[in-house]
Amino acid sequence: MTNAPHPYDALMNITARPPTVFVKGDGAYLWDDSGKRYLDFMQGWAVNCLGHSPTIVADALAAQAKLLLTPSPAFFNGPSLKLANALVANSCFDQVFFTNSGAEANEGAIKLARKFGTLYKNGAHEIITFVGGFHGRTLATMSASGKKAFEPLFEPKVSGFPKAQLNDLDSVKRLISSKTVAVMLEPIQGEAGVWPATDQFLQELRALTQERGLLLIVDEIQTGMGRTGKLFHYEHAGIEPDIMTLGKGIGGGVPLAALLATEYASCFEHGDQGGTFNGNPLMCAAGLAVLEHVATPAFLKSAADAGLFLESELQKLSARHGLGEVRGRGLLLALDLKLPIGASIVAQAFSEGVLLNSPQPDALRFMPALNVSKEEIADMIECLDAILTKAGAARMVA
Ligand SMILES: *Cc1c(COP(=O)(O)O)cnc(C)c1O
Repeated sequence: MTNAPHPYDALMNITARPPTVFVKGDGAYLWDDSGKRYLDFMQGWAVNCLGHSPTIVADALAAQAKLLLTPSPAFFNGPSLKLANALVANSCFDQVFFTNSGAEANEGAIKLARKFGTLYKNGAHEIITFVGGFHGRTLATMSASGKKAFEPLFEPKVSGFPKAQLNDLDSVKRLISSKTVAVMLEPIQGEAGVWPATDQFLQELRALTQERGLLLIVDEIQTGMGRTGKLFHYEHAGIEPDIMTLGKGIGGGVPLAALLATEYASCFEHGDQGGTFNGNPLMCAAGLAVLEHVATPAFLKSAADAGLFLESELQKLSARHGLGEVRGRGLLLALDLKLPIGASIVAQAFSEGVLLNSPQPDALRFMPALNVSKEEIADMIECLDAILTKAGAARMVA
């Protein structure tokens, strides 16, 4: 008997996916090709900061598509200039380089730090990163990541990324040598299960790097663009890093990411950095529409309020079911399940029409759209409550 090839088989089998094809999105909801509706608390892993297919992004894309797609990165274009200036005006950084993915932005941050070392620090090139950190899937960003599962893969790795422990300043100090040029971290380790750096640690790290003449690089690909209730997470700690990367939410659903640097750190020379599609007007037009919407005090306040509501609802849920802590900030939160039941909860929620994420076996991560409503949060909590009640009953029978 021969098996007819399945349409799914034409895609490389890089992850386990449910046998469902998604065809439509609107705000907090996704629909599959059978017409089933799902309430989405993943939003493409914190990508759709304004929900699925927001009108302002769709309109910006349609208008720009008719005007100009790509003149060439050898020329200036309007949307990339506008977006770069808006990012500079809303941050502590002076210059921007646009990329197509977060990993590529981090790859650029690593190159920029190494260039800085070549120019000003006798060839120092090591970048201290953190156990549990995630910076992407290019060879250098996998090497910079502190993810256990990456360790045996694709050897030999790119060298020069010694790993410190998050929230342990001494572990950073011990790794600093004449070869060190920078320290790089996610303000909240997202993929690792939402483990926040404390504001105090970020402040101490900024003081230490300044004192030792090292660059501080924040990977805000997940925490940036209002995700934690401020436009950028570093604002919570009141620090000014030298380099920041953005991705995910910056495009509101389209592939756009960015490398930002202060004048002090921005040292690329002609030939050091580039890329065919980087800064293309189509994606930058989407990014501009997103930023103009997100970077307003009223929007950021409502996202922060939604985060507080979700946090308190998760805390009540945790108390009802004897679960662990709620971690994170704003609308990047995790619930500690205390047991490795994350995958099973995600699967049950999927069949109930709610999309959740379990980055670690014993944790659920919540990253809804920043404009999620209280009703949508309440609906998700109700679904999760029922699943946890069933799981608890099953445990008592067993
Ligand atoms: C998602 C993510 C990346 C990688 O971004 P891609 O667009 O998938 O390449 C890097 N760093 C952090 C913190 C992320 O969350």
